[in-house]
Amino acid sequence: MNRSANIEALKKESFDLLIVGGGITGAGIALDAAARGLKTALVEKNDFAFGTSSRSTKLIHGGLRYLKQLEFALVKEVGSERAIVHRLAPHLVVPEKMLLPLYEKRGLGYWLTSVGLKIYDWLAGVKAEDQRKMLTRLQTLNYEPLLKSDDVRGGAIYAEYRTDDARLTIEIMKLAAHKGALVGNYLSVTDFHYTNNQVTGVQVTDLMTKGSFSIKATIVVNATGPWVDELRVINQSRQGKQLHLTKGVHIVVPFHRLPVRQAIYFDVPDGRMIFAIPRGRITYIGTTDTDYTGDKENVTTTLDDAHYLIHAVNETFPSALLTFADIESSWAGLRPLIHEEGKSASELSRKDEIFESDTGLISIAGGKLTGYRKMAERVVDRVMELKFEERNVRPCETEQMILPGGDFKSYSEVKKLEAELAGRLGALNLRGNEATNLVHLYGRQSLQIVDRLEAHHTGQPECDLILAKAWFAITFEMAVTPLDFITRRSGLLYFNHPKISRWVQPVVDYFATEFRWSEEEKEQQFDQVTKALQSVIHFTQ
Ligand SMILES: Cc1cc2nc3c(=O)[nH]c(=O)nc-3n(C[C@H](O)[C@H](O)[C@H](O)COP(=O)(O)OP(=O)(O)OC[C@H]3O[C@@H](n4cnc5c(N)ncnc54)[C@H](O)[C@@H]3O)c2cc1C
Repeated sequence: MNRSANIEALKKESFDLLIVGGGITGAGIALDAAARGLKTALVEKNDFAFGTSSRSTKLIHGGLRYLKQLEFALVKEVGSERAIVHRLAPHLVVPEKMLLPLYEKRGLGYWLTSVGLKIYDWLAGVKAEDQRKMLTRLQTLNYEPLLKSDDVRGGAIYAEYRTDDARLTIEIMKLAAHKGALVGNYLSVTDFHYTNNQVTGVQVTDLMTKGSFSIKATIVVNATGPWVDELRVINQSRQGKQLHLTKGVHIVVPFHRLPVRQAIYFDVPDGRMIFAIPRGRITYIGTTDTDYTGDKENVTTTLDDAHYLIHAVNETFPSALLTFADIESSWAGLRPLIHEEGKSASELSRKDEIFESDTGLISIAGGKLTGYRKMAERVVDRVMELKFEERNVRPCETEQMILPGGDFKSYSEVKKLEAELAGRLGALNLRGNEATNLVHLYGRQSLQIVDRLEAHHTGQPECDLILAKAWFAITFEMAVTPLDFITRRSGLLYFNHPKISRWVQPVVDYFATEFRWSEEEKEQQFDQVTKALQSVIHFTQ
């Protein structure tokens, strides 16, 4: 993925399909379309996965909650997709058992939950050995001794998957590029071009150079998540259904401050449900769900958001005694939901919908990270039907397309690679958990990172490994700023704030050398990283 070469080609060529938005929805559409043989382009105004697709709960899940809302079709689709996405990237979409404690006067109660989970497993076709297990009160407390024991009446354990949303998006984008899609980040669509009142292209501003150019395409798809209505306004087609944005916040604490034994999904007294998910050296907790009308480019965690989550944890795990001082990072994202009159934030459906304007703009909104493949299939089917029916193109084949780094026959092969790399990293004085992190984020691509590390080590192993990952991000993943790397390629901003805080300068220096920045540019980039490191721990009013 070479950004400058792609931009030159975007200016010159015309495309069957141009996708606006480089989150998971856009990336999924680009992959499906390019794989079916459409000449495909994608532009993203920030970095890939800048929006909601790097700020979710990072679960590939069926959405147990949606069963309560009787959304059977949605649960069946996303539930069934879990095992498929796991097969496509077994290192990155990892099985995770979820504990669901049950309480006397909250939630659905023991019998309804038992039936509900049975339906959940049945709809998603979960294998017998992974199906839900109901637990007695004592068993539940054995699973999770930190729970407030006098409240718990029983529990259940059921199967979900954990992922890294931004890396999943980047891997899909890389595969789309490999299949022929031309993709570019920091390219903002500012207007549409029309021929006979039909959209036939877009005007784009390159945010790196401030230059503007146009791209020609037979069909344009608006996959801009929370920004979908902004493009519909430019297209003068924001009629009928509209978006309803709700904000969700997660906070991150060191694992030892909330050492839950497995992921847990618990009721809080206001009737909502919250996840606490252990991930290596940290546990993350979320999410909130509040209406949002503020600045979409800069969605922040407020003191109230953080307080709500801390309070929920302390109510459920009284010995935790979490305080603001325990929070070492956080993120806030927007759900691009479709407005339904009279429904509150958490009652709104998570279903995706496609809107078509009179001028031929196709917009897709709603949906889940988990359902990206099926959403893409629906959009590309519609694109084919509208304009390319006569072409003898292949049907959707993404169910068989292993994502980069994901060619493992089974999960035990993932473990084998971890063990092999732990040995190589150990020889460089790096701890075994580095190998686990590396393999879970990059799969077999970890081998390239470790080769690079062995060839370029300076005696500061922790920093050397970060720089080897930065090299990979610049060389193969179109990272163009240190923040692209720290936030969306490596997750360090969220999951290892103390470590990345120590190594900001060498990372910025490395990018400055690679991109030949002036001292002034280098200082600006350093300031941006410093501000980002502050913003995830200093909350707004
Ligand atoms: C708090 C929270 C938790 C969630 N948890 C889960 C979960 O655990 N599992 C799950 O399956 N789903 C989850 N979801 C839902 C899921 O994250 C989203 O449905 C999904 O990420 C949306 O992806 P998207 O590509 O549609 O939007 P985004 O990821 O927001 O992508 C849209 C992109 O369009 C770009 N863009 C905007 N305007 C322009 C323009 N003019 N030109 C070019 N580009 C533009 C933006 O910069 C952005 O990167 C969660 C959502 C939230 C908010």
